[in-house]
Amino acid sequence: MFQRVLIANRGEIAVRILRACRELGVDTVAVYSAADADALHVQLATQAVCIGPAKATDSYLNVDALLTVARQTGCDALHPGYGFLSENAEFAQRCADLGLTFIGPSGDVIRTMGNKAAARALMQAHGVPVVPGSDGPVATAQEAQAAAEAIGYPVLVKASAGGGGRGMRRVDRPEELVAKFEEARAEALACFGDGQLYLEKLILNPRHIEFQILADRHGAVIHLGERDCSIQRKNQKLVEESPSKALSPQLREAMGAAAVAAARAAGYENAGTIEFVLDQDGKFYFIEMNTRIQVEHPVTELVTGLDLVREQLRIAAGLPLSLTQEEVSLTGHAIECRVNAEDAAAGFRPCPGTTEFLHFPGGPGVRVDSMLYNGYAVSPYYDSLVAKIIVHAPTRLEAIRRMRRALEELVIQGYPTTADFCHLILHHPDFIKGQYDTGFLAAHQEELLNWDKEE
Ligand code: ADP
Ligand code: ADP
Ligand code: MG
Repeated sequence: MFQRVLIANRGEIAVRILRACRELGVDTVAVYSAADADALHVQLATQAVCIGPAKATDSYLNVDALLTVARQTGCDALHPGYGFLSENAEFAQRCADLGLTFIGPSGDVIRTMGNKAAARALMQAHGVPVVPGSDGPVATAQEAQAAAEAIGYPVLVKASAGGGGRGMRRVDRPEELVAKFEEARAEALACFGDGQLYLEKLILNPRHIEFQILADRHGAVIHLGERDCSIQRKNQKLVEESPSKALSPQLREAMGAAAVAAARAAGYENAGTIEFVLDQDGKFYFIEMNTRIQVEHPVTELVTGLDLVREQLRIAAGLPLSLTQEEVSLTGHAIECRVNAEDAAAGFRPCPGTTEFLHFPGGPGVRVDSMLYNGYAVSPYYDSLVAKIIVHAPTRLEAIRRMRRALEELVIQGYPTTADFCHLILHHPDFIKGQYDTGFLAAHQEELLNWDKEE
């Protein structure tokens, strides 16, 4: 196992990684920006080093500063978390070149899977079903028009470098295509510095079903079941659960096998996620692979009893997976709610502020992953995620009741959060029945936000 791991991230995920390291007896080096001097991950790490000013490009994305700190503090591995540099192939390669183990797949694998058009082509070549779409990237709006005619409207224009729901535009009619194409390109350039686009058929009201996989250096690849992440706002997940109500045991087996095949096709090592959309006829299609630990990984941890960050460290250290596919047993039901410092009533506008009072829920089957503490000032510079509430119970309905009660115990004063909105979702009849798809929030958001208003 490693001696000392540099955690190239912040917020709740930095805290999550620290916890796994400490339990393994691994020292941790936290890095932080000038805006994060008071952050929890700084206080919990064995040591912490400031790497630059608040702006992420000058700190958490500053490759030279990170590598210098890793060398100076004698780290033998680096965990990138999610976001920031976690899916940056050049960064992974530079770590490897310095003999610093990047806890994730190789730069080459990140590069291939990070280009979503290239990943599609690779999957297609290996018999993994992909959404019907353009044959590779489309260079111009004219090319996109021809491809869209062939695919049939509605289509989705997607950025090859996309992530976090950005760089995507739905196009319903040919006359909208040029404008949406240019919009998507501008957003992709601004967010990812890469304007390459491709087209997919828009699957109407699908479910977002993703499979967690683990792959070690010795050729073992397993999956840990699915997460249903169909409760999305603007293609960003808000509530996730496992197992999915939409999967029969047969479909789970077929999708799990496809996920394992996808990981094998990529030559994958470490933890990763294969994302699919599942249409209303029960047909599933690969949309992308996330080559990192994911925000919603705790849902899988609760139904499998595994520590995925620990598995990541073990794999990166060259150890074999700690279980076989046959030994994976999925128990009960888990749900996660993302608590973002956002004002749901004001279009989910980010609302950072000082945590004036904080109380986390507890009791049976409740887990909280967060960087918050009483008095902590949420920074306006970074992602608005401040806490994840995750529950586990024997059945789905018990998990729903447990999540409601956990959210009722939760107190965060000082700024609005999405916790109340999640609480409303957990009371919606369609959610309770498990009858929802990625269109759920667009269809019900106004209704939910007005539930407590007088007629
Ligand atoms: P998950 O797939 O784990 O649910 P999200 O899509 O919510 O992850 O993204 C996790 C975090 O990483 C968010 O802060 C998101 O903005 C960021 N992120 C995801 N993909 C990218 C990317 N390609 N480039 C930059 N940031 C990204
Ligand atoms: P990102 O890299 O931003 O996470 P994804 O390709 O995973 O992008 O897509 C984000 C979300 O958009 C998916 O979770 C799904 O809800 C929706 N989506 C993506 N592709 C399609 C498609 N072809 N048809 C319908 N919905 C899609
Ligand atoms: Mg995705």
